[in-house]
Amino acid sequence: MQHAERPGADGQADLVLRGGAVLALDDADTRGTAIAVRRGRVVELGDDASVERVIGSDTRVVDLAGRAVMPGINDSHLHACWLGAIWPTTFFGGGDPAQGAAEASVDPHTAGAAAPLLSSRAERRAAILRAGELIASLGITSYTEPGIGPGEDRGETGCFGQDVFDAYFELDAERALRARVNVLALFGVLDGPSRLEEFGDGLNRLVRETAHPERLRLAGVKIFGDGIPPMLQAWTRHDYPDGSHGGLLVEGADPADRERRLRAMIRLAHDAGLQVGVHATGDLTIDTVVDEVALAVARTPADLRHYVIHGDLATPAAVARLAEAGMGLNLQAGIAAATSGWLEGVLGAEVTRAAWPIAEALRAGVLSLSSDAPILAPDWRHGVAAADAWLGTPASDAERVARMGALLRAYTVAPARQDLAEGWKGTLAPGMVADLVVLERDPFDVSPAELPEVGIDLTVVDGDIVYERATAAIG
Ligand SMILES: [Zn+2]
Repeated sequence: MQHAERPGADGQADLVLRGGAVLALDDADTRGTAIAVRRGRVVELGDDASVERVIGSDTRVVDLAGRAVMPGINDSHLHACWLGAIWPTTFFGGGDPAQGAAEASVDPHTAGAAAPLLSSRAERRAAILRAGELIASLGITSYTEPGIGPGEDRGETGCFGQDVFDAYFELDAERALRARVNVLALFGVLDGPSRLEEFGDGLNRLVRETAHPERLRLAGVKIFGDGIPPMLQAWTRHDYPDGSHGGLLVEGADPADRERRLRAMIRLAHDAGLQVGVHATGDLTIDTVVDEVALAVARTPADLRHYVIHGDLATPAAVARLAEAGMGLNLQAGIAAATSGWLEGVLGAEVTRAAWPIAEALRAGVLSLSSDAPILAPDWRHGVAAADAWLGTPASDAERVARMGALLRAYTVAPARQDLAEGWKGTLAPGMVADLVVLERDPFDVSPAELPEVGIDLTVVDGDIVYERATAAIG
C-alpha cells in the first residue's frame, strides 16, 4: 500500500458508527446498526458488516455499544443571539440542571434595561458562538433565527438588529457556525408593531444571497400578527374577562385596516418568493393568516412553506386549512405547559383544553416543534416530554412508540420541510447530509417523559464532530 494516502480517498469513510441503533426517521422507519459518513454525506446505512468495506486506515470508527444515532435536531424557532447573551437565564427557567432555579424566571426583556445586552459586533459574534456551543451539546444541527432586522437596531436587547445579520455573515465566511442557520428577516419591532410601508421597503432592500446557503440561508420574513393570550393581546373570537378580543399588532387606522395591511404584507412577501413565518396566537389572527396564504398560493402558485408560529388558539378547522395550503405550524409544547394556567385564567378551561392543538397538527402532518429559546431552554428532550404530557397518556405501548416517532420527526423531518430541505437533511440515508446525534439510549426504548434523562454523547454537522461528551468514552 502506498503511503501518504489522502483521508477519504478510494471510498474510505471519514467516520463510521457501528454496533448500535441507527434510526433513519424516514417514512419506511428504516433501522440499521451502523452508518458511514464521507465528505459530509451519509454513504452507507445498514448493518455492521455493510460498513466494513468503507473502513480504511484513516476512518474514525466509533463503537456505539448499543447507543442510538438519529438525524440531528432542527430547532426551527430559536433566538440564538439572544440565547447566547442571557443563558443560563431563560424566560420560564429550567433546562440547565447545573444552574437550578435561582436563575429562573428573570425577565430577559428587562435583564438589560440599563444598557443593551449586546452593543457591539464582537459581543454579538460571541453570543452567537456561545449559543452554538450550547446547542451543539444538545444535538442541535440546524436552527432558525426568527426575526433579525433594522427595526430592532435601537432595541433594548441589541440581540435582533441588522448587525446580528452581519455577524452571521462574518461567522459563516469564517466557517465558525456550528449549526446550519436559517434566518427570518424582521421589519418592525420584536413582539411589537410593524408598518406596511416599512415592510415593503425592507423587502426591496433585503440581501437574499448568502455564500453557503446550506449553512447560512435567508429563509424569508417574520411578521408579528398579534401578542399573547395572557396579556389579552391575542386576537380571538372568545371574550376576555373585560369583554375585549385583542387585536393585530400591524399598525392601521382601525381593526379592518390592520387586517388589510397584514394581508398585504403576506401577499408582498409571497409574491417576492419569500417564506413567511407569522407569530400568531389568537384564532382570528391564525384564520386571517391561513386565509391570505391560501389566496396567495391560489393566485401565484409557489411552494414556500409559509407557517404559523405558536398557534395557541388554532382551531381544528384552521389546522386542516393549514395543511391544505401547504403551511406548517411551529409550536412550543413547553409554552403550553408553562402558560396554560394563565390562559385558563383569562379564557376558561374549555378554551384551554382545545388550545395548542398538537394532536390535530400531528395528524395533519403540519407540526414542527421548537423551543423559542431563550423563552424556554433549547432542550428538545424536554420539548418532546412536554408535547407527550399535553397529548395525555398513550392507550398502548404501540401508541407510545408511534408517538415517540412522530414527536422526533417534529424536531427533524418536519423542520427540514420548513427549510425546504427535506431532500438533503432531516432523515438519514445514503446521499443525505451527515448531520446526526448519538444518544446514550435508543429513544424508542423509553417513554417521552423519560427522554430528558437520556444523555447526548456526540453531535455531527456536515460530517464534522462539533460536540463530544467528555464522560461518554466514545471509541
Ligand atoms: Zn420567538
